[in-house]
Amino acid sequence: MPLKTFDEYVALAEAAHGHMCAGQILGLRLAIYGVKLLGIDDPAGKDRKRLVSFVEIDRCATDAVPIVTGCRMGKRALKFRDFGKVAATFCDLRDDRAVRVVAKESSKRRAAEIHPEISDRNAQQMRAYREMPEDELFDVQWVRVRLGPEDMPGYKAARVVCADCGEGINFKREVTRDGKPICRACAGERYYEPL
Ligand SMILES: [Zn+2]
Ligand SMILES: [Zn+2]
Repeated sequence: MPLKTFDEYVALAEAAHGHMCAGQILGLRLAIYGVKLLGIDDPAGKDRKRLVSFVEIDRCATDAVPIVTGCRMGKRALKFRDFGKVAATFCDLRDDRAVRVVAKESSKRRAAEIHPEISDRNAQQMRAYREMPEDELFDVQWVRVRLGPEDMPGYKAARVVCADCGEGINFKREVTRDGKPICRACAGERYYEPL
């Protein structure tokens, strides 16, 4: 079984994230559950090309996902959708199926019920999130994720130059306006205002 022990994942996550916390424990459990549901047993090793993961929050739990899955943003295998939810979707490219795992709203309350003797909330949740069964921690949804060729980890395309701002655009992220390629910033998706 190539999956590491939970304690090995905890050590790796702590090193990558800078501290250990309840969110990371939850994120590790969530990611391990996701790959298990897909039947992928060596996500970071021999099965590393099978998996693309979507994360839905920019908090602690998200940092645990690449630890288990090996999916990294720099490899286009980790995608961020800013929905503010402790949730992630794991896509098996080989078998063309995907599962979305969501932390249950009840998990904090349940942690307090299981370990009332631990007064520190983070410590209480860290302990409980290690112990709780997966179906008590998470809801599971089988889903379809439409991934275009440009979403795939190995995709390559010619680099074009934005007809508006002149900046280079990789991997077919341009849009076409009046028959010319323009970048998504110039197309109105800019998240910054030039000063
Ligand atoms: Zn944290
Ligand atoms: Zn532009």
